[in-house]
Amino acid sequence: MADSHDNLNSVKKAIAIFEEVGCRLIIHAGDFVAPFTARELSSLKCPLKAVFGNCDGEKIGLEEAIRSFGEIRPAPLIWAEDNLRFLLTHLHHEVELLAHSGRYDIIIFGHTHRPEIRRIGQTLVINPGETGGWLTGKSTIALLDPLRREADIISL
Ligand code: MN
Repeated sequence: MADSHDNLNSVKKAIAIFEEVGCRLIIHAGDFVAPFTARELSSLKCPLKAVFGNCDGEKIGLEEAIRSFGEIRPAPLIWAEDNLRFLLTHLHHEVELLAHSGRYDIIIFGHTHRPEIRRIGQTLVINPGETGGWLTGKSTIALLDPLRREADIISL
C-alpha cells in the first residue's frame, strides 16, 4: 500500500483484505501523513515495512507508532526475503533506472497515486496506487504473491 494520506476508512478496508488473504508482511511506500493510521495497522499481527513519503512530516510520531510491529525509514528500504531482493521507495523518479540495474526482484513505490504493475527486465515494479483515494477517487492496494512473483491491484 501507499499514499494512505490519513484515510482511516480506506486503511480499515485494506486491513480487512490483508486479514482475509492471510498477509505475512505489510509494505507501505510512504505518505501515511499523520501517525494514527499507521497505528491501526498493528492490529494485523504481521510486520510492517515502510518508508517516509514527502508528506510524512511527523517522522518521530510515525516511528513511535510503528516501532512495536515494524519499521519506517527514509527511502529506499532494501531487504531480502523469500529469495527476493526488495527495494521500497516513495518517489517515482528513479524507479526505471533502479529496475534496469537488475539488482532488485521487486521494486515498490508510490507518490504518483496511479496503480501500476509492470516488468522491467527481471524486475517486477509495483505501484499499489493510493489507499487514500483523495486524488483519483479510487482507493487501491496491491497484493504480492512472492512465490509466483506476481501482483494484483485490488480496489477497496
Ligand atoms: Mn507523495
